[in-house]
Amino acid sequence: MQEGVSLKPYNTFGIDVKARHFAAFHSLQELQDLLPTLRNMPFLISGGGSNMLFTQDFEGAFVLNRMVGIQEVLRTEEEVVISAGAGENWHQFVQHSVSLGYGGLENLSLIPGCVGASPMQNIGAYGVEIKDVFEYVDAVEISTGTLRRFHLEDCAFGYRESVFKHQLKNQYIICSVAFRLSLNPKVNTSYGVIEAELERMSVINPSIKDVSQAVINIRKSKLPDPAVLGNAGSFFKNPVVPEAVLDKIRSTYEKVPSYPAGEGNVKLAAGWLIEQAGWKGKRFGAVGVHELQALVLVHYGGGTGKEVYDLSQAIIEDIQQKFGVILEREVNIY
Ligand code: FAD
Ligand code: NAP
Repeated sequence: MQEGVSLKPYNTFGIDVKARHFAAFHSLQELQDLLPTLRNMPFLISGGGSNMLFTQDFEGAFVLNRMVGIQEVLRTEEEVVISAGAGENWHQFVQHSVSLGYGGLENLSLIPGCVGASPMQNIGAYGVEIKDVFEYVDAVEISTGTLRRFHLEDCAFGYRESVFKHQLKNQYIICSVAFRLSLNPKVNTSYGVIEAELERMSVINPSIKDVSQAVINIRKSKLPDPAVLGNAGSFFKNPVVPEAVLDKIRSTYEKVPSYPAGEGNVKLAAGWLIEQAGWKGKRFGAVGVHELQALVLVHYGGGTGKEVYDLSQAIIEDIQQKFGVILEREVNIY
């Protein structure tokens, strides 16, 4: 354990707060050795810090999961199950799978962070969520130190949701995640912009590598690189609302985008609502709303997490007032 460590390098917002204690573990044994100490204090497990906002110093232990290693655990003629350590970089793991011709993760290219956080909010992008290729997660129960395997039916995956964010919050540390990938992949290009990018790339019969590259190109063109500009991706979830709410918005905004979300409900694009409300590209001192994607709040440097949080609160209140929709934060606040 180190004491009084700045978390600036460990959160992609680049917020300069201190953790009272700081540690990293690289194996199950190191984690088991650390657990008795951790049980005596509040602590936070982290991979890449790309889904976190610190509004104050962290008065506990900030602990990096650095368990790495990728293994093939099962192979049939059609599929392969591959398990990755929680500390593996997500994008490198996706690229590794794509390079081996294993299909299923390509739409999730270039998402920052580590493998271990991927089940936390069932990460998703461009029409795919990890639940679509998920096999199991191995996690250590904090109170007992025992390793437990969770299968798909145990994880209660939903839109940016899982059992680990709710019923089992702060009860398990994820050590590895296994995915069932296809050896005869069919690409998923149903998300409109992928088709358009493939056309721009002059690709006719796209491979998983082409889809991965298309996603990388799209993301690079509109999302800020955290290494250059502090951010944690989408700050808010896309709200799922009853159709009546959509009808009301449509009476003023004829072209409001919406997507089916189960019986009588629709998903609205939070970024579109924020943009219509006039927030896109606005800067307030050290923080602001990204100029190309209004769903992303940014930190220009030298600011505080509280400033980002206050901006998010002002946006929530404005969207509620203008559209009657309450936005929910996706980023974890500490
Ligand atoms: P961290 O921020 O370190 O942790 C996130 C949460 O998971 C915390 O609650 C933490 O305590 C917990 N946690 C982390 N590791 C473990 C573990 N091993 N065991 C138990 N709990 C753990 N997300 C998407 O879903 N889709 C996207 O397309 C997407 N795009 C993004 C683009 C950008 C530019 C950025 C900055 C972020 C984006 N995100 C996206 C959000 C983020 O990258 C993902 O949620 C990612 O999975 C977070 O990984 P991490 O390792 O950085 O998690
Ligand atoms: P976008 O393409 O501008 O679209 C705006 C929103 O509309 C998206 O958030 C998406 O919802 C929804 N949408 C668009 N086309 C859709 C379709 N065919 N079917 C269902 N929903 C559709 O979005 P973007 O901001 O550039 O992001 C592109 C993708 O990357 C999205 O899937 C987004 O979730 C993901 N992403 C996530 C984060 C994050 O931090 N969570 C950050 C950047 C990008 P969904 O979000 O539900 O897909």
